[in-house]
Amino acid sequence: MASLGASPQSHSVDHLDLRRSNLGLVLRSLRDHGPRSRATLSSELGMTRSTVSTLVSELAERGLVREGKVQRSSVGRPGTAVELDGSRVYGLGAEVNVNHVSVLALDFAGRTVGERRLALDARAMGPEVVIDHLMRLVCEVVDELALGGRHAAGLTVGVAGLVDRRRDLLTHGPNLGWFDVPVGELIRRRLDGSFPVRIDNEGNLAATAEATPGVPDRQDILVLFGEIGVGGGIVADGRLLRGRRGYAGEFGHIIVQPRGRTCGCGRTGCWETVSGLRALLELVAEPHDTIRNPALGLDERLAEINRRADLGDARTLDALDQVGTWVGVGAAILANALNPAAIVLSGYYSAVGHHMRPAVERALGAGVLAVDSGGTRVEISTMGFAAAVRGGAMAALEPVFADPSGIPRRPQPAGPAGEVMA
Ligand SMILES: [Zn+2]
Repeated sequence: MASLGASPQSHSVDHLDLRRSNLGLVLRSLRDHGPRSRATLSSELGMTRSTVSTLVSELAERGLVREGKVQRSSVGRPGTAVELDGSRVYGLGAEVNVNHVSVLALDFAGRTVGERRLALDARAMGPEVVIDHLMRLVCEVVDELALGGRHAAGLTVGVAGLVDRRRDLLTHGPNLGWFDVPVGELIRRRLDGSFPVRIDNEGNLAATAEATPGVPDRQDILVLFGEIGVGGGIVADGRLLRGRRGYAGEFGHIIVQPRGRTCGCGRTGCWETVSGLRALLELVAEPHDTIRNPALGLDERLAEINRRADLGDARTLDALDQVGTWVGVGAAILANALNPAAIVLSGYYSAVGHHMRPAVERALGAGVLAVDSGGTRVEISTMGFAAAVRGGAMAALEPVFADPSGIPRRPQPAGPAGEVMA
């Protein structure tokens, strides 16, 4: 809008805001649609070629984009594609769960450049000790990437439980046995303040990771993140729905069996008591079985379940069918309410979900009023337990995509080196 009578100063502030938002637009276009020429960017973003070239040069000076391959575009002459540059900035995602802590680093171009995971009993250890373990993993990754000249844009930590992001608190982590724990503050105390730290619900972060930017089929989805508990997130039109106080997505505590088992939250018959990992482990094997041995890695135990299912073991198949049916019963409740394009089974479901899928689809079809489950597909995530940490790393990078001007320009050597040709 034309600002009649605006002072020169406010005019220049407007100009600065516009330039920042245009820098972000270029970056998000490259993230969501892949490498493209300046000509394509200018026609897609409705900017002149020279504006796009100036923006690209500035982003290259900040180490956020670089020259890619020569591309023939539908608009104008063949040109060099511009692509995101992952060599300078990365985002960190971490997770505090009942039976593990983990960390993952995603470079600015979306590639995994660091990953650590440690099995532990978070409930028995308590917050201080668990955060010590987590920070050891974080520091290993940060130190390793610093050697390559990369720096962290931020760290987002997913926790299993209700997160009050305004007060920076895990208010209610029934499966962890943690209440009103200032997880963000505990982490900041162990860092030197070199990057921002935020906390979020792990299911929300998993949903962020599964809602792949730019993929139309992944813009209206429900993500079920199965661990001991079952969390998740609702993505509508590409955006995470958080609800009034940010507590949306606590799917695991929808009551499906009012006379059922006691949940970690103290209530009776919550969905996760029949669809979470504990329910599956208890159905699939006796207490002395290796599958029930917490000293073994979870990946190994899930692989053993798959091995037995592949061999046609009746008890294993029956357990997967029972839990899959319960997953479908809950999924139907959610699909009746929200009619998503897909229900994405993430977390432990991505390891064994292919054996559960027939039962899930059967119960979904039976429980949804609309024909053909209202068009809702059941999809198995390929990210596994890494979905939450991946979503955390994406969230940590988001401020850079929103306003890249916070990343300092690189010191420019004399001459054209490092310069991006217009
Ligand atoms: Zn519950």
